[in-house]
Amino acid sequence: MRLVLVGPPGAGKGTQAVHLAQHFAIPHISTGDIFRSNIKGETELGLLAKSYMDKGELVPDSVTNDMVADRLTHPDTANGFLLDGYPRNVDQAKFLDGVLASRNIPLDAVLEFQLDNSEIVKRLSGRRVCKNCGATFHITLDKPKRDGICDKCQSELYQREDDKEEVIKRRLEVYAEQTAPIVSFYREEGLLISMSAEGEVEEITQRAISALKTAVS
Ligand code: AMP
Repeated sequence: MRLVLVGPPGAGKGTQAVHLAQHFAIPHISTGDIFRSNIKGETELGLLAKSYMDKGELVPDSVTNDMVADRLTHPDTANGFLLDGYPRNVDQAKFLDGVLASRNIPLDAVLEFQLDNSEIVKRLSGRRVCKNCGATFHITLDKPKRDGICDKCQSELYQREDDKEEVIKRRLEVYAEQTAPIVSFYREEGLLISMSAEGEVEEITQRAISALKTAVS
């Protein structure tokens, strides 16, 4: 299964990506996670990405596209992959099409998560992330057992710089202006499956799996 997840920030792409990747036994490739791990490792790429991410802007395509093209050459992608957070604009979508066409491995589906802006803001502003393992929690919707501590590895939780209110607003604008057009792009390619991202985590996972099975079988 070669899959792309699309949806506004806070729609639950990252959470669902983990479950779907596990279900279909494919690697979960999140450009946001790759950038964050570079920031943590204080690499040159991390330093560059941070200057855009902290403002809610997209990291330039010249950097992002090559990074993804390289990741897709890793052997673990031989049986498929799940891209989360990429492509984020039509130029990236065209670039990805080119990379996959050159290797004769077209996408099977693009799954769009739909969610209202008010719910997005609620989810993002309460999100907390583990400093160590990247697991995500929510201060009211998905509380960790101990306040501020990760259930999985007991490390400290933090609020992403770009989950602060001023940056959330900009990320939503960037989504509407730059990312939303890829929905029509993939609809025209006949790859789009749209679904509601409202509800409990497991319920959404099941909804996604059955939508994908119906569309791809
Ligand atoms: P995410 O974790 O997917 O919400 O991404 C966090 C931030 O990383 C975004 O707001 C962008 O600044 C950057 N980013 C992630 N994926 C991309 C991409 N495909 N193109 C450009 N910037 C990206």
